[in-house]
Amino acid sequence: MKILLANPRGFCAGVYMAIDVVDQLLDICGDEKVFVYHEIVHNRHVVQRFRDRGVTFVEGIDEVPDGAILVFSAHGVSPAVRAQARAKRLVAIDATCPLVMKVHAEAIRYAKRGWQILLVGHENHQEVVGTRGEAPEAIQVVESPDDIPGLVIHDPAKLVYLTQTTLSLDDATVIIRALKQAFPLIHEPPSSDICYATTNRQTAVRAIAPEADFVLVVGSTNSSNSVRLTEIATNDGTPSRLIDDAAELDPAWFAGVQTVLVTSGASVPEDLVHGVIEALIDRFGGEVEQRDVYDERVEFGLPGTLRELMRARGVDPDTRRIRIDREADTSAWLSRKHIPNRTVQVTLRESEGSR
Ligand code: SF4
Repeated sequence: MKILLANPRGFCAGVYMAIDVVDQLLDICGDEKVFVYHEIVHNRHVVQRFRDRGVTFVEGIDEVPDGAILVFSAHGVSPAVRAQARAKRLVAIDATCPLVMKVHAEAIRYAKRGWQILLVGHENHQEVVGTRGEAPEAIQVVESPDDIPGLVIHDPAKLVYLTQTTLSLDDATVIIRALKQAFPLIHEPPSSDICYATTNRQTAVRAIAPEADFVLVVGSTNSSNSVRLTEIATNDGTPSRLIDDAAELDPAWFAGVQTVLVTSGASVPEDLVHGVIEALIDRFGGEVEQRDVYDERVEFGLPGTLRELMRARGVDPDTRRIRIDREADTSAWLSRKHIPNRTVQVTLRESEGSR
């Protein structure tokens, strides 16, 4: 079997940062309990590994004891949640991805100017709940073109759309086109809200999937960007499956399959991808071809709230850096495992876009 391994895949800069925030807290807090509001990132294994290290995940601020340390997840929270945390004198550490914060800032800016905001995204996704909470009276969520007739618009000239960061580029394009048709004066956000990591992972799948008979996306079912990768492959004509780990592989999927594309969502630890590759090679034999579509170099620093806490605890934040272990590790791992492998640079056609 030939395994095509998409690069980029796996952790984005926001996920590296959010996971590292909890790691660093566990390091500096000793026996003090660390609470996290919502799953730190949407991955079952990441959450369970932190649970095993004593972290408590909560879905409500009332579950956290007064004065405790609470981390806001990468998806961001609404001002109401922040106010609740203040009321309980919690030490709030904000691991919201800066690219989600950018959408919050846009929502606040437009709402202050008296504009109405159409937020394209999934109504119950944690990120959309948080962004909407910045200006609930000004924001309406649009999940599909079917929602457009039900929108209440006061002044079509003071209307802007924003989007969730992890949408499918295709779905977003369809919805935005419909919004522009319905409201020709609608404004666009200053720059795309769909983040670089979502865009790059989707573009890589779209570019490579036509060469594969089957696509495996490693990721959890509540991970928006992972689910979108599966949809993109399927919609483009290559059957695909979303799996949390190698244990979910079903040999029946691979009848007649000679080439498999493996990728992973932005919240997926690379060791889970290794597990899938190892299981496939053990069963079917073959080789791995890494396909480099983009070389991602985006990194975020430690959040200000964590830096403050570090100083208060006598730790110099400048001595701490966010741990990044990119796919170079996978090349070394493949060699250690004696799995035949090579790396191929992919040049995108103009229509496939580049970032
Ligand atoms: S997927 Fe994008 S918005 Fe979400 S954490 Fe990663 S970089 Fe940030």
